[in-house]
Amino acid sequence: MTQITGYSTHDIRFPTSLSGDGTDAMNTDCDYSAAYIIIHTTSESLKGYGMTFTIGKGNDIVVQAIKQLADKLVNKPIESLFNDMGAMWALLVSDSQLRWLGPEKGVIGIATGAVSNAVWDLYARSRKKPLWKLIVDMSPEEIVRSSSLRYISDALTPEEAVEILRERQSTKQDREENAVKHGLKAYSTSVGWMGYTTEKVQRLTKEALQQGFDHFKLKVGVSVDDDLARAKTIRDIIDDPQYQRSDKQVNLKALENKNAGPTGNVLMIDANQVWDVKEAVSYVKKLQPCKPWFIEEPTMPDDVLGHARIRNELKDTGIGVATGEHCANRVLFKQLLQAEAIDVLQIDACRLAGLNECLAVMLLAAKFNVPVCPHAGGVGLCEYVVHLSLIDYIYMAPSFDRNVVEWVDHLHEHFRYPVSVNSNGRYNAPTGPNVGYSIEMYQDSIERYSYPNGSYWKDEHPRLVNKAQEGRRVIG
Ligand SMILES: [Mg+2]
Repeated sequence: MTQITGYSTHDIRFPTSLSGDGTDAMNTDCDYSAAYIIIHTTSESLKGYGMTFTIGKGNDIVVQAIKQLADKLVNKPIESLFNDMGAMWALLVSDSQLRWLGPEKGVIGIATGAVSNAVWDLYARSRKKPLWKLIVDMSPEEIVRSSSLRYISDALTPEEAVEILRERQSTKQDREENAVKHGLKAYSTSVGWMGYTTEKVQRLTKEALQQGFDHFKLKVGVSVDDDLARAKTIRDIIDDPQYQRSDKQVNLKALENKNAGPTGNVLMIDANQVWDVKEAVSYVKKLQPCKPWFIEEPTMPDDVLGHARIRNELKDTGIGVATGEHCANRVLFKQLLQAEAIDVLQIDACRLAGLNECLAVMLLAAKFNVPVCPHAGGVGLCEYVVHLSLIDYIYMAPSFDRNVVEWVDHLHEHFRYPVSVNSNGRYNAPTGPNVGYSIEMYQDSIERYSYPNGSYWKDEHPRLVNKAQEGRRVIG
C-alpha cells in the first residue's frame, strides 16, 4: 500500500523584472515565482508535483502556508485520497484554525491550490495518464464529487452538474480526438507588455502572425494616447493583408461579437485593475477606435456590481468585459455570472484553490454559457491551463468555437514536460504516462533559482553584482 511519506517545498523565483516581461499598468516589476511542493511516497518512482504562482515578494509566505496544509497528507495511503478527491480537498480547506486566514482566498487559498494540485498530479501519474485524460475518463458523478460545489448550489446543483456532463457524453470522443489532433486555440499576450518599445511590439506581432495566432492582447491603462498609439501599432500589422500567412483561414463562428478586423484578427485589452468603475467606462470609451473584443480586469476583482455596471455602460460600444485571474474563489465567479457582469470568464489555475475548484467554476460557466478563456503566462500557468481547457472543451463547454487560451512564451524550459503551441497557434495536448499535471520542474532549475540561496540569486543577479561593485565582492 503506497503512502505519502512527506514533502519538500521550494521558494523559486525567476528574475523576469530585468527584462520587462510581464509588465502592465499595475505590476511593474514582476519576478515570476513558484511556491512549489513535491509530495514523496513510499514508492521512489512516484512523486506528485504542485505549485502556485506569485510575482516575487511573499512567495516565502505562501511556502509556509503550503507546509501547514501538506502536513495533513503525511502518512495517508494514496488510494484512500484518490477514492474521493472531493474529500481530499475538503480535508485541506476545513482546518478550523487555518480557515480563519481565508476562508478560501488569499495566501491560504493559493497554497491550497498548490497542495491539492500536487495530489492530482500524483493521481494522474499513478494512472499513467495526463491529468486532463484522467478527468475526461471519469464518470459525471465522479467529476461532480471531485468538484467544489459547496456554497454555489443556488446557481448550480450537483444534479444539474451531472446532467451537463451527461449531455456531453455523445460528443466526448469526437472532441477528444479533435483536441489531440489539432490542439486548442491560443492567443498571444507576448506582443503587448507595457514595457516594450514600438519596434519590439512590431516585431513580436509580425512573428505571432506567422506562428498562426489571430488573437492578440495589449496592456493598457497608463495613458490613453500611449495606449491608442500602441494599439494602432498592432492593428496596423494584424489588419494588413501583407502580413498574413498565405494559408490563413477565417472561422466566422469563432469571431462572433469580437470586433475582428478585415483580416479576421482580434485585439483584446487588459487594464490589470487600475481604474475605479466610472473611470473604467470613460477610459475604455476613449479606446473604442482600437476596437477590442473585451476589456480585461477593468477594476478591482471583487467588485461584482462594478463589473456589471461597466459591462452595461459599455454595451453600446460593442466592447465586452472579462475578468477572473484575480477572482479568489468560486463564489465570486458565481456572483459575476449571476449578475451578468462578464462576457468572458478567465479562470486562473493558481488563483483558485486547485483543480477541484476549477472544475466547479468551469461547470458554472457551462451552465451560464459563458466562454472560459483561462489566464496564463507567469511561470507554470500555461502548463496547468492547457489541462483545464482540454477538460472544458471535451467534457463541459456547450461550444468551444469562441474560446481562446492565453499563451505567453516564457520560462517553459524549466519544466520537464513543457507545454507548446503548434504551427497554427494552438496549444498541443500534453500526452505521455508521466506528464501528470505538466508541472514537474527540473531539479537544476529548482536549485539554481531557489530564493535566496540558489546559485542564481547568490552569485549571478545583477543587483548583487552592483552591490559587489560598491566594494562588497565582485562576481563574474
Ligand atoms: Mg490579465
